[in-house]
Amino acid sequence: MVSPVALPDDVVEKYIRAGRIAAIVREEAARRAEPGVSLLELAEYVEDRIRELGGEPAFPVNISINHVAAHYTPLLDDELVIPEESVVKIDIGAHIDGYIADTAVTVAFNEKYIELLEAAREALEKALRAVEPGRKAWEIGYVVEETIKSHGYKPIYNLTGHSIGRYMIHAGKSIPNYPDRSAGWVFGDGAYAIEPFATTGSGYVRDTSLVTIYALRTNRPRARLSIREKRVIREIWMKRRSLPFPERWLKPYAETVEGVRALIRSLFRHGALIIYPVLVETRGSMVAQFEHTLVINGDEVIVTTKYGEQ
Ligand code: MN
Ligand code: MN
Repeated sequence: MVSPVALPDDVVEKYIRAGRIAAIVREEAARRAEPGVSLLELAEYVEDRIRELGGEPAFPVNISINHVAAHYTPLLDDELVIPEESVVKIDIGAHIDGYIADTAVTVAFNEKYIELLEAAREALEKALRAVEPGRKAWEIGYVVEETIKSHGYKPIYNLTGHSIGRYMIHAGKSIPNYPDRSAGWVFGDGAYAIEPFATTGSGYVRDTSLVTIYALRTNRPRARLSIREKRVIREIWMKRRSLPFPERWLKPYAETVEGVRALIRSLFRHGALIIYPVLVETRGSMVAQFEHTLVINGDEVIVTTKYGEQ
């Protein structure tokens, strides 16, 4: 029996193209990541490569080291390099016409973290196999938590996978990393990111005061803005609506690094920006993450970001 197909062909095709680009760049980035490599150079490589392959970054690449779980992207004048013995999470987003692929890999430069990585990787594999139309979201969380615990680690309870919409990375539904019965919604047609995090620590992350990622709150802020500020908002909105961006991408709008930062502060003060603080594990413990995007279309489940994986 042929089931009715709910997503238009061109939409599915764009999700698949975005997924393939994100997957290629993820694998290339993982190979380039090594102790001593500059985070800024790695970030620029990832984002340039996404564009070269015909996509646009859906968000600035997150390069989160050790106990940093997510939301760190290099600053304009970033001088950090990948540390010796570290655990590095590279989280990449690509989109075609707003159709997003979101995928992450972790690499470790100390053998003692191999099993931590394996816990998150196996949780993702098992979770992907468990997804099917009609399955409840919390059931995926059950698989994730059981798998990670079987390796002796904890999932991160306050980070989740998510539904994806056009120009929307988080489209409203959460996919928990434990059997959270409040996630009683059921998988149907659409795109989803599954992202187990495993940690040697408490299983919780908290915000820090450091912010490296921003997004527009609206394209029509009510406050009085300068001509330049209005132009920044207009141009970002036209290109990416409320998809996130880093200070690096605002370089054309100011003469200096300080100028870019002053521009961001002003936009934030006027209520034009959403901020995404850097997230760290509460005990300062190691964190690993793996992530894939999948598209459900009728009774078909397509993992869009699998290409090129070892
Ligand atoms: Mn991600
Ligand atoms: Mn995600």
